[in-house]
Amino acid sequence: MKLLILPGDGIGPEITDATCRALQALDRRFDIGFDMQTREIGLAAYKSGGETMPESVMQEIAETEATILGPTDTYNYPAEAKGGTRPSKAVRTTFDLYANIRPSRTRPGVPAMAKDMDLVVVRENTEGFYADRNMFLGDAEIMPTEDVAISLRKVTAKGSSRIARQAFEVARARRKKVTVVHKANVLKVGDGLFLRETRKVAEDYPDVELEEVIVDAMAALLIRKPESFDVVLTTNMFGDILSDEAAELSGGLGFGPSINAGDDHAIAQAAHGSAPDIAGQDLANPTALMLSSVMLLEWIARRHGNNGLATAAAHMDRAVDAALAKPETQTKDVGGPLGTEAFGEAVAQAITELDV
Ligand code: ATP
Repeated sequence: MKLLILPGDGIGPEITDATCRALQALDRRFDIGFDMQTREIGLAAYKSGGETMPESVMQEIAETEATILGPTDTYNYPAEAKGGTRPSKAVRTTFDLYANIRPSRTRPGVPAMAKDMDLVVVRENTEGFYADRNMFLGDAEIMPTEDVAISLRKVTAKGSSRIARQAFEVARARRKKVTVVHKANVLKVGDGLFLRETRKVAEDYPDVELEEVIVDAMAALLIRKPESFDVVLTTNMFGDILSDEAAELSGGLGFGPSINAGDDHAIAQAAHGSAPDIAGQDLANPTALMLSSVMLLEWIARRHGNNGLATAAAHMDRAVDAALAKPETQTKDVGGPLGTEAFGEAVAQAITELDV
């Protein structure tokens, strides 16, 4: 099974190395037959070939079922016309990865602001306020004069309906509650449409409760009673912000995994960014990317009804928990002693030693 590894920028190379170490241990333990291929993207690829997202890599992603995408420092990319294509945007739009699934839960032994939380943010991924991906041609931000900026937000019935369906499907396999987060009191048209489509989809899931919460209240409620949420469904920008809040409540940004999924493609990608402030210092926590890889393996296992791969993914999840539960193998961001590389080793060891 081919795994395409794209390390990216900032802490990307370090956290992908640690993740690959864990995946190699998983491969040995379960005899999966991973064929790991690493390709440069981001600033490294720009330096060597003038493109942050080379066409050859896009082609390889199209032909590969399992891709692990590291974080990218798009803030420092040149303009798109000069080779600075944003990898996240490129994969999400090209492969129509409309669902960004971002779980956050408290984990045994990990110091967290939330006492008890286990939720999944289901974020629309291809439209909304993201100026780089919601237009066929051009950019959705314009500047009529040097003192006026206009940002356009796109919401479609199709985009809203399909992400709502994903959220209800996720909820059906969990605690059967969807909280749709919106700002329809102000964005009456855009979020009104998002709510209309969500309510329509909800009719097909009478076993799942639908709750509607305004985004500013949600920011507060996530802190006050995070345990009351199961699946949080929302538009692109709100989902980006709320999922970082949830990750922070669960222990920190280093604990927020995600996959970007479409109907026939999925890519693992940590919810956090490239953290240039700690890059190259062996300080980053690779948990988010490890758990994103677990989610990707689960997604592939579901698609093919591959119970062996599902068992392997669950084992890796438990191994991450086991390493995080012991103070002596915790990462530095939560006060533990281990750097990125050593934590990768600790998870690999747990994969090797834990009972299946
Ligand atoms: P970008 O511009 O790529 O989004 P950023 O630094 O603005 O990068 P994040 O990368 O999300 O945004 O990081 C925000 C803060 O969280 C940083 O101070 C960073 O050190 C910390 N952080 C993010 N990811 C991790 C991680 N995996 N381990 C430890 N700390 C992290």
